[in-house]
Amino acid sequence: MHDHSDNEYIERYKRHILVKNIGGEGQKKLGKAKILLVGLGGIGSTVLQHLAATGIGKIGLVDQDTVALSNLQRQTIYTYGDIGRKKVSVASKFINNLNKNVDVTEYDLFLKAKNSSEIIEEYDVVLDGTDNIEARELINRHCLMQQKPLIFGGVSGWEGLVSLLIYDNSACFKCIFTSSEERPNFLDCSSEGVLGVTTSLVGTLMVAETIKLICGTGQLLTNKLLICDALSGATEVLNIKKNNKCNACRYANS
Ligand SMILES: [Zn+2]
Repeated sequence: MHDHSDNEYIERYKRHILVKNIGGEGQKKLGKAKILLVGLGGIGSTVLQHLAATGIGKIGLVDQDTVALSNLQRQTIYTYGDIGRKKVSVASKFINNLNKNVDVTEYDLFLKAKNSSEIIEEYDVVLDGTDNIEARELINRHCLMQQKPLIFGGVSGWEGLVSLLIYDNSACFKCIFTSSEERPNFLDCSSEGVLGVTTSLVGTLMVAETIKLICGTGQLLTNKLLICDALSGATEVLNIKKNNKCNACRYANS
């Protein structure tokens, strides 16, 4: 736990405390926040670096994979020597080397219908850095049932997407992506090409969204879909709506 009068605390976070709309109060809120990160791939690597550096109080890490050579092109926390090691253990060590005050919980598993509820229940916000549609729909369903804010990130090639779902009665994942024909590349990037820096771009934007949500500041990406294209350098924010016919929303409310 942080001692908020501690000199080391002030020294570590002073550049945050000086930021307008964060300040000492915001930094305290970040220190108490509990964030669940599902998926420790390209997006997850960037997300966890910034969550740890930001001083988030508790971080849960979900992934059952081991580090592979083909991951190193974009999954920036892993080194050549980590190949074959469990991602959750490497990631957890990375976080605590950077910031020993973060309480890390490792979930060396795939989220399933059976285990999702009790894991998600422990956290304030869920960040989805997975690479397949089944996992995304499962996370969405459980976040809907518990009304947990869900920060979505997806990458395909040079392009990335970010949105804040299920907050303040905003659209859910299924409200936006009603069928798998819509932007399938973004939802299932396991077989698609992915530019390494785009995963970092999306991961960073997801953490920015997390910080705004926790500090209660700025304009949130609720009912909005941010699209960034590294190839053209353009960023666009589309307005989206909660879909009254969305099955996922209906099921969760029934
Ligand atoms: Zn919905």
